[in-house]
Amino acid sequence: MSFRKVAIDGPAGAGKSTISRAVAEELGYVYIDTGAMYRACALKMLRKEIDISGDVNSVIKAMNSTEIEIAHGENGQIVYLDGEDVTGKIRTAEVSKGASDIAKIPEVRLKLVDIQRALAQKCNCIMDGRDIGTYVLPDADVKIFLTASVEERAKRRYAELVEKGVKTTPEEVLSDMKKRDANDSGREFAPLKQAEDSVLVDTTGNTLEKSVELLKDIIIKNLNEI
Ligand code: C5P
Repeated sequence: MSFRKVAIDGPAGAGKSTISRAVAEELGYVYIDTGAMYRACALKMLRKEIDISGDVNSVIKAMNSTEIEIAHGENGQIVYLDGEDVTGKIRTAEVSKGASDIAKIPEVRLKLVDIQRALAQKCNCIMDGRDIGTYVLPDADVKIFLTASVEERAKRRYAELVEKGVKTTPEEVLSDMKKRDANDSGREFAPLKQAEDSVLVDTTGNTLEKSVELLKDIIIKNLNEI
């Protein structure tokens, strides 16, 4: 039996995860957040005090004995790092930076891509990331490239962080966002870029509700046309 696959790519803060989760729930699809896997790997390196961008050999060696597993519970995706549930531990600024650095290493990507492709074989899914439509699932049934201006994405992320009680400034969040964009788009292997056969959706100026409705309509329309 073959399952339906929806690929949603785009830069950080475009609303991919919130929108994908909402649409997946509505369609009865499984939402797979691939960024969480890069984050879990980065967390491992940070705990082992490995310099992710400076000591690639040690990262690759540590990856050989790293197990990343994904499960789906009532509250969504659960990420296991070497058997430990790290879902709640991978959303810090330090892990975000580490994930963006570790994602440049092809050996890391190849290991995680294998897991992502295996997951997509087992269920109807909406998978979000940076390279899903271009590299992980090039045969996805629907591909969306979700974006928004960097200023708006930084504004949304700043509001989220303030709500969580994280101490930061709008300028710091904007500068981190620009660095992550440059890292993701500039890496050699499977960079962030729009797949030629994807639908471009710019959510600048939209409310979240409006973006969810828009995406749901596009996905359902495209799935119906298959
Ligand atoms: O999506 P999220 O912001 O949680 O992803 C964390 C980091 O993981 C991103 O900044 C990006 O560098 C990397 N990533 C990636 N490819 C994916 C998903 C995430 O390179 N498919």
